[in-house]
Amino acid sequence: MIFNSEPGFTVTGRFLKYVTIDTQSDPSSSSIPSTEKQKDLGNILVSELQAMGIVDADIDEYGYVYATIPANTAKQNIPVICFCSHMDTAPDCSGTGVIPIVHKNYQGDDIILPGDPSQIIKLKEHPDLKNQIGNDLITANGTTLLGADNKAGVAEIMDACYQMISRPEIKHGKIRILFTPDEEIGRGVDHVDIQKLGAYAGYTMDGESAGNMENETFSADGATLVINGVSAHPGFGKGKMESAIKIAGQIVAALPFELSPEGTENRDGFIHPVAIEGHVETARIDFIIRDFNEDKLTDHANTIRKMAVETLKRFPGSSFQLQVKPQYRNMKKILDKHPHIVEYAMEAMKRAGLNAKLCSIRGGTDGSRLSFMGLPCPNIFAGEHAFHGKQEWVSVQDMQKAVETILHLCMIWEEHSE
Ligand SMILES: [Zn+2]
Repeated sequence: MIFNSEPGFTVTGRFLKYVTIDTQSDPSSSSIPSTEKQKDLGNILVSELQAMGIVDADIDEYGYVYATIPANTAKQNIPVICFCSHMDTAPDCSGTGVIPIVHKNYQGDDIILPGDPSQIIKLKEHPDLKNQIGNDLITANGTTLLGADNKAGVAEIMDACYQMISRPEIKHGKIRILFTPDEEIGRGVDHVDIQKLGAYAGYTMDGESAGNMENETFSADGATLVINGVSAHPGFGKGKMESAIKIAGQIVAALPFELSPEGTENRDGFIHPVAIEGHVETARIDFIIRDFNEDKLTDHANTIRKMAVETLKRFPGSSFQLQVKPQYRNMKKILDKHPHIVEYAMEAMKRAGLNAKLCSIRGGTDGSRLSFMGLPCPNIFAGEHAFHGKQEWVSVQDMQKAVETILHLCMIWEEHSE
């Protein structure tokens, strides 16, 4: 099946419009959403959805956009499913004044970005480009990020909405749409109203290569180690002073390389000191702990404790406290209880002509938290690549395949229901 879009309302047309709207989030802000400008895109999405005839589309005070596509089939018992993308872009790289460029019929050459010719997208650094020969690539001009993460997902969901509304032959149950702010600063689901959403399953459209689907994330804890040293006048410190700064340094140096982000890949977990702050009397180290196997998080915390105990043997007047806090959990634990949620999406990608592949993410997604809030939510590809940087790119053809995947997925849920 081929899904055509009318000119002006294509997924590409929408994408090129959305990326020009600055929606960068800000981790240092305590307001909700963290930046008011994210609502600029939210308001546009609401008016576009309303123009399609989706009357309940709205944006709430926190900047979340909700909308419903009513069912168009007589079947009564189709579970409500939801598609979700985030509207913000990463704080790591400017998203102001994005100038998108379409590179038609890519032939494998290096792409020199005209706004800053030192920014060159090279085939050997972006091996996924090999699968894009003959496709149309979209990049920024080299001075900003592109924002395909996650405006590719937003454009794909918007185009899928338009097609579902305008083409009665695409049979589907009730579909819920959710666009979130502040995903990039880890607050994307803080104010989602799961009750209001009322969906049985969700899909984030925020993955990388076409055909890839992620049903597994890290499980994550944060740990804080506080070291209490012994302060003394430095002129008379001999035999008395136990500097908390130096103790902290020794503990960090003692961490095993084979449990570090620099020394791990694939399915290995790690312990990662992310911040350190201290004086002679007291010092603090913040860690993040990650593993696909939730039980191993405890082992990793114990490794930190062991390094602290060993180090402090040389500092008898000093002490430490270790505090561990859960951050998020591997969504696979939830998804395995509802295997058809992932199976239907794999089938949808196959029907879109893709080589469907299950992957795991060495990180978290909005879906990992949503899954534990009662909305099982794997992550489907959106086509975004090299995100959070000036060499970010996406292909038109991958975005079109993502739209096809959404439409097939809605039809598959309808087919399997009564
Ligand atoms: Zn994203």
